[in-house]
Amino acid sequence: MLAAVAATEDVAALIYTEQLLKQAATAGFAVKKISLPATADEAEITAVLKRLSADADVAGIILQSPLPDGVERTRVVTGIVAEKDIDGITAASAARLSAGDLGEALLPATAAAVMELLGAHQIEVRGRRAVVVGRSAVVGRPVAQLLSLAGAQVEVVHSKTPDMGIATRNAQILVVAAGVRALVRGEHVSPGCVVVDVGIHVQGDQIVGDVDEASVRDAIGETGALSPVPGGVGPMTNAILVLQAAQAALRLAGA
Ligand code: NAP
Repeated sequence: MLAAVAATEDVAALIYTEQLLKQAATAGFAVKKISLPATADEAEITAVLKRLSADADVAGIILQSPLPDGVERTRVVTGIVAEKDIDGITAASAARLSAGDLGEALLPATAAAVMELLGAHQIEVRGRRAVVVGRSAVVGRPVAQLLSLAGAQVEVVHSKTPDMGIATRNAQILVVAAGVRALVRGEHVSPGCVVVDVGIHVQGDQIVGDVDEASVRDAIGETGALSPVPGGVGPMTNAILVLQAAQAALRLAGA
């Protein structure tokens, strides 16, 4: 069984959780959604995660972002046992990634999805200049680590970077995970750049990313590429989560 815990009223996050559970069910998993109030505290969330960790029927656990105000992610994820950490968010999973030990590692799913998309489209990573916008523990940092492990020359920019365009215009591969709608525009990219947009925002009845699609498509030209939102990193992240849940289930079963 794959279990998702959500303690939020964030519409995009809730849509995302539903899509994931649907995809997991289609793949043959029993699924369970545990909805906690957006006011849940660390003790409540940790207790639910510990209960799922101890439940022999549960092979994989997902903790949906965002968490309630005041809840520290690093503290609550201690409730997830590493073997069921299919989103790669525990300290044990992060340590494996930092050590470059990818063999049996359950990776941060969105970061793994970015790499999978690049690979699926035969984008050469080794030796290329890659820039990651964002340094969160769940997306930006692990993407930068995976790109580096794959042989890219990686630069990370964030909210304290005075002029991110200096870095992004030099990028051959640009991964944008800032959580700011239309942050990256045409003036930030160069022709031929491969841009992966991780952002998800609800805009009216549309889902949009962190990249301003029209101006960026124009600037990167025919030789560049831009991952769509929706339809790019999001569905691939779900596929990785389901895959990692299957791997976790097999390992827990001793297969
Ligand atoms: P987050 O925890 O809020 O981190 C955002 C990062 O972006 C931070 O490192 C922040 O810098 C940086 N940043 C913020 N404003 C910036 C600016 N103006 N210029 C440059 N950098 C800036 O967000 P997250 O969890 O990494 O998620 C990022 C986005 O990806 C969100 O839109 C989220 O919804 C989406 N997401 C998508 C998926 C998927 O499956 N497609 C999965 C997870 C998240 P500081 O560190 O300096 O604050």
